[in-house]
Amino acid sequence: MLVQATEMLNKAVAGKYAVGQFNINNLEWTKSILQTAQENNSPVILGVSEGAGKYMTGFKTVSAMVSAMTEEMGITVPVALHLDHGTYDGSYKCIDAGFSSIMFDGSHYPIEENIEKTKELVKVCHSKGISIEAEVGAIGGEEDGVIGGGEVADPDECKMIADLGVDFLAAGIGNIHGKYPENWQGLNFDVLAQIKSKIGDLPLVLHGGTGIPADMIKKAISLGVAKINVNTECQLYFQEATRKYIEEGKDLIGKGFDPRKLLAPGCEAIKTIVKEKMELFGSIGKA
Ligand SMILES: [Zn+2]
Repeated sequence: MLVQATEMLNKAVAGKYAVGQFNINNLEWTKSILQTAQENNSPVILGVSEGAGKYMTGFKTVSAMVSAMTEEMGITVPVALHLDHGTYDGSYKCIDAGFSSIMFDGSHYPIEENIEKTKELVKVCHSKGISIEAEVGAIGGEEDGVIGGGEVADPDECKMIADLGVDFLAAGIGNIHGKYPENWQGLNFDVLAQIKSKIGDLPLVLHGGTGIPADMIKKAISLGVAKINVNTECQLYFQEATRKYIEEGKDLIGKGFDPRKLLAPGCEAIKTIVKEKMELFGSIGKA
């Protein structure tokens, strides 16, 4: 059964650990992440971008697959199915499709419109027992052509969005989506501490978890980060293992061409990196 993410994240804030959001792209990704969460008794958030939702033919397909999979696999750890960087329309589609959590990313709207739409979605989500994440400012990334320092949120704006009743809040503190550039200046802990002092116990979300050094992750968790999004790293691990399998010619041996064999090393690699992240975030044994 899918659960909303508020309770698991409030527990994480209290226990000074973070729950990983791992983005899914297909059945193999989902199965690997669920297996790892169950084996390590860790809560988990499955992230779905709008692009990934489209790729899997629509949010209804995703929701049906994840619900059925948790049942068929006998998953007992808390699992949230979460829309990542949702548009206004996408948010409603996921609410209707049975997602247990959404992120409404209204960061590209003027602040008044962002507030209005966020308020409305908070009301709708809470009436249906769905958790909702909002974003303050914008989070930099390669796709936006932003490199170097990344974006930093305004702590007063964080307080304003937090007061709209969102369940957890993403704020830029120098983090970036995708691979980090060599000249990256690191996370801005001063801003993180200021945000924390304004929003109290509301769980903070760190996007762009790929490539942030472990000591910075731990410090961010100690300052109130309770959800960390990991996407690119799973893709890179999957790619590397798949490349190795092909380059070693294993697809040419026996039934090595069978997709279940061809994709197996990549799935194992995802399990490895997801477990590493759960260890680093401190969520193992916290289900
Ligand atoms: Zn993000």
